[in-house]
Amino acid sequence: MNFPGNFLHIADVDTWALKQLLLGLDDEQWQSEAFRQQRYEVHRDTQTINLVFDPDFRHTHPTKLPMLRIFEDSLLPVLSGIAGHYDLSEKGQALGQSHGRGYFVRANLVKLKVGGEIPAHADGNFSLAHSHRIHLPIVTNEYVKFTVGGEEAYLPDGALYEINNRRKHHVVNSGPEDRVHLIVDYVLPGEKCCCGDKLHPETACNPQACMFTDQFKIPCTCMPE
Ligand SMILES: [Zn+2]
Ligand SMILES: [Zn+2]
Repeated sequence: MNFPGNFLHIADVDTWALKQLLLGLDDEQWQSEAFRQQRYEVHRDTQTINLVFDPDFRHTHPTKLPMLRIFEDSLLPVLSGIAGHYDLSEKGQALGQSHGRGYFVRANLVKLKVGGEIPAHADGNFSLAHSHRIHLPIVTNEYVKFTVGGEEAYLPDGALYEINNRRKHHVVNSGPEDRVHLIVDYVLPGEKCCCGDKLHPETACNPQACMFTDQFKIPCTCMPE
Protein backbone atom coordinates (compact mmCIF):
# COMPACT_ATOMS: atom_id res chain seq x y z
CA MET A 1 0.00 0.00 0.00
CA ASN A 2 1.24 3.43 -0.90
CA PHE A 3 1.22 6.06 1.87
CA PRO A 4 2.93 9.40 2.41
CA GLY A 5 6.26 8.16 3.77
CA ASN A 6 8.68 5.23 3.61
CA PHE A 7 8.51 3.56 7.04
CA LEU A 8 5.68 3.75 9.54
CA HIS A 9 6.46 2.62 13.09
CA ILE A 10 3.46 0.82 14.56
CA ALA A 11 4.59 -0.64 17.90
CA ASP A 12 7.35 -2.54 19.68
CA VAL A 13 6.69 -6.14 20.65
CA ASP A 14 8.45 -8.94 22.51
CA THR A 15 9.86 -11.53 20.08
CA TRP A 16 11.28 -13.97 22.65
CA ALA A 17 8.69 -16.71 22.07
CA LEU A 18 9.00 -16.44 18.28
CA LYS A 19 12.80 -16.66 18.54
CA GLN A 20 12.55 -19.89 20.52
CA LEU A 21 10.30 -21.39 17.85
CA LEU A 22 12.69 -20.33 15.08
CA LEU A 23 15.56 -22.08 16.88
CA GLY A 24 13.57 -25.29 16.64
CA LEU A 25 13.35 -25.18 12.83
CA ASP A 26 15.79 -27.23 10.78
CA ASP A 27 17.25 -26.56 7.33
CA GLU A 28 14.82 -28.91 5.72
CA GLN A 29 11.88 -26.85 6.95
CA TRP A 30 13.48 -23.65 5.69
CA GLN A 31 14.19 -25.22 2.32
CA SER A 32 10.83 -26.88 1.84
CA GLU A 33 9.20 -23.94 0.08
CA ALA A 34 11.37 -23.01 -2.84
CA PHE A 35 8.46 -21.34 -4.63
CA ARG A 36 9.33 -17.76 -3.78
CA GLN A 37 13.05 -18.05 -4.46
CA GLN A 38 12.56 -19.73 -7.82
CA ARG A 39 9.76 -17.56 -9.10
CA TYR A 40 11.27 -14.21 -8.21
CA GLU A 41 14.84 -13.28 -8.93
CA VAL A 42 14.68 -10.64 -6.16
CA HIS A 43 14.33 -13.43 -3.60
CA ARG A 44 17.34 -15.53 -4.58
CA ASP A 45 19.12 -14.94 -1.22
CA THR A 46 16.05 -15.70 0.86
CA GLN A 47 14.29 -18.71 2.30
CA THR A 48 10.64 -18.53 3.22
CA ILE A 49 8.26 -20.37 5.48
CA ASN A 50 4.72 -19.59 4.43
CA LEU A 51 2.15 -19.43 7.22
CA VAL A 52 -0.72 -17.81 5.34
CA PHE A 53 -0.13 -17.75 1.61
CA ASP A 54 -1.56 -18.40 -1.85
CA PRO A 55 0.66 -18.54 -4.94
CA ASP A 56 -2.00 -16.62 -6.92
CA PHE A 57 -1.73 -13.64 -4.53
CA ARG A 58 -5.49 -13.57 -4.04
CA HIS A 59 -6.90 -10.69 -2.04
CA THR A 60 -9.62 -12.52 -0.10
CA HIS A 61 -10.11 -15.95 1.49
CA PRO A 62 -6.44 -16.64 2.24
CA THR A 63 -5.17 -20.16 2.93
CA LYS A 64 -3.79 -20.97 6.37
CA LEU A 65 -0.91 -23.41 5.98
CA PRO A 66 0.12 -26.23 8.36
CA MET A 67 3.24 -24.37 9.60
CA LEU A 68 0.99 -21.67 11.03
CA ARG A 69 0.01 -24.06 13.81
CA ILE A 70 3.55 -24.02 15.23
CA PHE A 71 3.63 -20.22 15.48
CA GLU A 72 -0.04 -19.41 16.06
CA ASP A 73 -0.02 -18.95 19.83
CA SER A 74 3.12 -16.81 19.85
CA LEU A 75 1.89 -14.74 16.92
CA LEU A 76 -1.47 -13.95 18.44
CA PRO A 77 -0.43 -10.88 20.49
CA VAL A 78 1.59 -9.54 17.54
CA LEU A 79 -1.23 -10.00 15.07
CA SER A 80 -3.90 -8.55 17.32
CA GLY A 81 -1.66 -5.52 17.91
CA ILE A 82 -1.38 -4.96 14.17
CA ALA A 83 -5.08 -5.52 13.54
CA GLY A 84 -5.97 -3.08 16.33
CA HIS A 85 -3.67 -0.43 14.92
CA TYR A 86 -5.45 -0.43 11.56
CA ASP A 87 -9.00 -1.29 12.66
CA LEU A 88 -9.05 1.44 15.31
CA SER A 89 -7.59 4.15 13.07
CA GLU A 90 -10.08 6.75 11.86
CA LYS A 91 -10.07 5.23 8.39
CA GLY A 92 -10.31 1.69 9.74
CA GLN A 93 -13.32 2.50 11.90
CA ALA A 94 -15.15 4.17 9.03
CA LEU A 95 -14.39 1.31 6.63
CA GLY A 96 -15.25 -1.27 9.26
CA GLN A 97 -18.81 0.08 9.49
CA SER A 98 -19.42 -0.28 5.77
CA HIS A 99 -17.14 -3.17 4.74
CA GLY A 100 -16.47 -5.30 7.80
CA ARG A 101 -13.31 -6.10 9.70
CA GLY A 102 -9.76 -6.20 8.44
CA TYR A 103 -7.88 -9.46 7.92
CA PHE A 104 -4.41 -10.86 7.26
CA VAL A 105 -4.13 -12.00 3.67
CA ARG A 106 -0.53 -13.27 3.95
CA ALA A 107 1.98 -14.10 6.69
CA ASN A 108 5.47 -15.42 6.01
CA LEU A 109 8.77 -15.88 7.79
CA VAL A 110 11.57 -14.73 5.53
CA LYS A 111 15.23 -15.46 6.09
CA LEU A 112 17.81 -13.25 4.37
CA LYS A 113 21.10 -15.08 4.33
CA VAL A 114 24.45 -13.70 5.51
CA GLY A 115 25.87 -11.48 2.78
CA GLY A 116 22.58 -11.68 0.92
CA GLU A 117 20.49 -8.97 -0.63
CA ILE A 118 17.04 -8.34 -1.97
CA PRO A 119 17.64 -6.09 -5.00
CA ALA A 120 15.60 -2.92 -5.52
CA HIS A 121 12.04 -3.48 -6.64
CA ALA A 122 8.51 -2.23 -5.98
CA ASP A 123 5.73 -4.70 -5.20
CA GLY A 124 3.33 -4.70 -8.11
CA ASN A 125 0.21 -6.83 -8.09
CA PHE A 126 -3.33 -5.98 -7.01
CA SER A 127 -3.20 -7.55 -3.58
CA LEU A 128 0.25 -6.21 -2.68
CA ALA A 129 -0.78 -2.71 -3.80
CA HIS A 130 -3.97 -2.88 -1.71
CA SER A 131 -2.68 -4.28 1.58
CA HIS A 132 -0.48 -2.94 4.37
CA ARG A 133 2.88 -4.71 4.39
CA ILE A 134 4.25 -4.98 7.92
CA HIS A 135 7.69 -6.27 8.93
CA LEU A 136 8.67 -7.64 12.32
CA PRO A 137 12.42 -8.27 12.77
CA ILE A 138 12.83 -11.39 14.93
CA VAL A 139 16.50 -12.20 14.33
CA THR A 140 18.53 -9.27 13.06
CA ASN A 141 21.67 -7.21 13.53
CA GLU A 142 22.64 -3.62 12.90
CA TYR A 143 24.33 -4.52 9.62
CA VAL A 144 20.98 -5.28 8.04
CA LYS A 145 20.02 -2.18 6.06
CA PHE A 146 16.54 -1.69 4.69
CA THR A 147 16.11 1.07 2.12
CA VAL A 148 12.69 2.35 1.07
CA GLY A 149 12.20 5.33 -1.24
CA GLY A 150 15.89 6.22 -0.89
CA GLU A 151 15.74 6.27 2.94
CA GLU A 152 18.00 3.75 4.69
CA ALA A 153 17.03 2.31 8.06
CA TYR A 154 17.93 -0.44 10.51
CA LEU A 155 14.79 -2.03 11.90
CA PRO A 156 15.61 -3.35 15.36
CA ASP A 157 14.38 -6.60 16.88
CA GLY A 158 10.72 -6.34 17.87
CA ALA A 159 9.95 -3.11 16.02
CA LEU A 160 6.81 -3.41 13.92
CA TYR A 161 7.03 -1.28 10.80
CA GLU A 162 4.78 -0.84 7.82
CA ILE A 163 6.92 -0.27 4.78
CA ASN A 164 5.78 1.55 1.67
CA ASN A 165 6.02 -1.39 -0.71
CA ARG A 166 4.90 0.77 -3.66
CA ARG A 167 8.18 2.68 -3.51
CA LYS A 168 11.44 1.10 -4.59
CA HIS A 169 12.96 -0.90 -1.75
CA HIS A 170 15.96 -3.14 -1.17
CA VAL A 171 17.61 -4.93 1.73
CA VAL A 172 21.22 -5.89 2.39
CA ASN A 173 22.48 -8.18 5.15
CA SER A 174 26.20 -7.52 5.67
CA GLY A 175 26.07 -8.83 9.22
CA PRO A 176 27.43 -12.04 10.77
CA GLU A 177 24.18 -14.03 10.83
CA ASP A 178 21.03 -14.73 8.87
CA ARG A 179 18.22 -12.25 9.33
CA VAL A 180 14.63 -13.42 9.93
CA HIS A 181 11.59 -11.18 9.57
CA LEU A 182 7.93 -11.95 9.94
CA ILE A 183 6.16 -10.24 7.02
CA VAL A 184 2.39 -9.87 7.05
CA ASP A 185 -0.07 -8.18 4.71
CA TYR A 186 -3.15 -6.65 6.30
CA VAL A 187 -6.26 -5.72 4.34
CA LEU A 188 -8.87 -3.16 5.35
CA PRO A 189 -11.79 -4.12 3.11
CA GLY A 190 -12.94 -1.22 0.97
CA GLU A 191 -9.71 0.74 1.38
CA LYS A 192 -8.71 2.38 -1.87
CA CYS A 193 -5.22 2.50 -3.31
CA CYS A 194 -3.42 5.83 -3.68
CA CYS A 195 -4.81 6.62 -7.14
CA GLY A 196 -8.25 5.09 -6.55
CA ASP A 197 -10.19 8.27 -5.87
CA LYS A 198 -8.59 10.11 -8.76
CA LEU A 199 -8.97 7.39 -11.39
CA HIS A 200 -12.29 5.79 -10.40
CA PRO A 201 -14.00 7.85 -7.70
CA GLU A 202 -17.32 5.99 -8.05
CA THR A 203 -15.97 2.45 -8.26
CA ALA A 204 -14.41 0.28 -5.58
CA CYS A 205 -10.87 -0.88 -6.20
CA ASN A 206 -10.60 -3.99 -8.35
CA PRO A 207 -7.86 -5.45 -10.55
CA GLN A 208 -9.28 -3.91 -13.72
CA ALA A 209 -9.94 -0.41 -12.38
CA CYS A 210 -6.54 -0.31 -10.66
CA MET A 211 -4.40 -1.88 -13.36
CA PHE A 212 -2.64 1.42 -14.00
CA THR A 213 -1.68 1.88 -10.34
CA ASP A 214 -0.80 -1.75 -9.68
CA GLN A 215 1.64 -1.95 -12.55
CA PHE A 216 3.58 1.19 -11.77
CA LYS A 217 7.28 0.43 -11.90
CA ILE A 218 8.18 3.83 -10.48
CA PRO A 219 6.99 5.33 -7.18
CA CYS A 220 3.53 6.80 -7.52
CA THR A 221 3.57 10.52 -6.78
CA CYS A 222 -0.18 11.00 -6.48
CA MET A 223 0.21 11.56 -2.72
CA PRO A 224 1.80 14.56 -1.02
CA GLU A 225 4.78 13.83 1.25
ZN1 LIG B 1 -7.00 0.48 -6.21
ZN1 LIG C 1 -1.15 6.70 -6.85
